[in-house]
Amino acid sequence: MENIIKLLNAINENYLIVFLIALFYSLERLLGSPFKFDRRLNHFFNNFLFQITFYFANLAFAIVQVGLISWSSENQIGLFYWIEIPLWLKVIIGVMCLDLSSYWFHRLAHNSPLLWRLHRVHHSDTKMDTSTFFRGHPLEVLVFGTSSVVACIIFGLDLSILGVYFIVLLPFLVAQHANFELPDWTDKFFGKVFITPNIHKVHHEQNQFYTDSNFADIFVFWDKLFKTYKYLPVKDMRYGLKEFDTDKKQTFWFLLISPFIKIDRSSNENP
Ligand SMILES: [Zn+2]
Ligand SMILES: [Zn+2]
Repeated sequence: MENIIKLLNAINENYLIVFLIALFYSLERLLGSPFKFDRRLNHFFNNFLFQITFYFANLAFAIVQVGLISWSSENQIGLFYWIEIPLWLKVIIGVMCLDLSSYWFHRLAHNSPLLWRLHRVHHSDTKMDTSTFFRGHPLEVLVFGTSSVVACIIFGLDLSILGVYFIVLLPFLVAQHANFELPDWTDKFFGKVFITPNIHKVHHEQNQFYTDSNFADIFVFWDKLFKTYKYLPVKDMRYGLKEFDTDKKQTFWFLLISPFIKIDRSSNENP
């Protein structure tokens, strides 16, 4: 098990992202995209600029993150330092705990008006495809970075388990935004345990009733347990946020400054 953890931690996340983006863009072509739209290269470029800003924001916050998690590991702080369990089980439960923490921070990002100003950038994409994975405000690193630190300190997880979590998480995040509709059986089968691409897409529906649902990244049972699971067929969806549905509000520069602009939410109709 130690060798598997070392192997997963040796994977370069940037190379993995390039591989996943190429893979899921190819799959969109192969499987056919249910939502056609023009100027896809322009759309990709706008979203990709966020990956660059995210990279530098992440690099800066990683110093704090690594420092805090190393300190808690050295001092053996957290639940898993008090109970003896096999390493493989600790890795599986550790990934689940990190997903649980992310679930609650994600809910907080929807419920706190201040954090929503940052998080709505991810939801603003009215033309969703694989590149929507990139679209997230760089300052959101503070929210989801804190989520990882909190989970590591509470549950006693070290940096190697956090590394495994990110490698498991990335394919989920990229696949969930791909512009394809997977057959129903994928939701009936994988959707019993995992957040499938169709299930995450419900989270991008304009209607706030659906936007405020399916908060987990990997495991669907957190949403089922805390009663935030909702389902809607992909073909019935309208992506994005009404208040961002103009060309001007879809540009990188506007979205980058948008957290500092008061924009009222207008997508709160009933289902
Ligand atoms: Zn969200
Ligand atoms: Zn998303």
